[in-house]
Amino acid sequence: MTASSLLPSAGLEAQALVQWAADTFGPELTLACSAGVEDSVLVHLAAQTGQPVRVFLLDTGRLHPETHETYDRLRQCYPGLRFEAYSPEAADVEALVTEQGLFGFREGLAQRHACCEVRKLRPLRRALAGSRAWLTGLRREQSPTRSDLRAAEPDGGTPERLKVAPLLDWGHEQVWAFVQAHQIPTHPLHDAGFPSIGCAPCTRAIQPGEDLRAGRWWWEHPEHKECGLHHRPTQGRP
Ligand code: SF4
Repeated sequence: MTASSLLPSAGLEAQALVQWAADTFGPELTLACSAGVEDSVLVHLAAQTGQPVRVFLLDTGRLHPETHETYDRLRQCYPGLRFEAYSPEAADVEALVTEQGLFGFREGLAQRHACCEVRKLRPLRRALAGSRAWLTGLRREQSPTRSDLRAAEPDGGTPERLKVAPLLDWGHEQVWAFVQAHQIPTHPLHDAGFPSIGCAPCTRAIQPGEDLRAGRWWWEHPEHKECGLHHRPTQGRP
């Protein structure tokens, strides 16, 4: 049976959806955590299932130190979960830097995709190996590329793995009210104007009134602002 044939009932609340995923996929469920506030919520929800859900960080080599610190605080707060980190292969990084330098990703979309491929996507494939479902903190309002997502759908169009986004229709205020109500650790850069946090050289604070994703790859067109982790076939991105 393919993972995508096991779709949940429509309209489940976030905690019920995480519980459904944990009950349905057991050790074949994993949680992608970049230590942003949505992922803090997901870690908390995963811990409530009572199962040792596997959580992973893509440790790209260009993360803010605060990301590592927040990830470790989550690990300490939720000892019932299993926290892992996946790094890019050293030889891949060395070849990338030789080819396009340490900041080649700013020179064009192809170079940026090459960097995300080495530092994120290859580690992601290793992190997801053996998983039939993964939880992500995607929210619809974050980006035009996320407007037509479903709360559970085949990952990148493949039936073998399901991508589950329990917070898809949560608003910014709802996320923050939840972490405050449950005293969940959050990334300190959110308080410095970073609504979305990725690699340090590709993330900046935003100004009041700017789009929530304006601080990610700000030199690119909004419709290009995905690193490939959440690629869907209709987006035409390899
Ligand atoms: S977000 Fe920037 S530094 Fe990180 S992998 Fe992508 S291009 Fe490279």
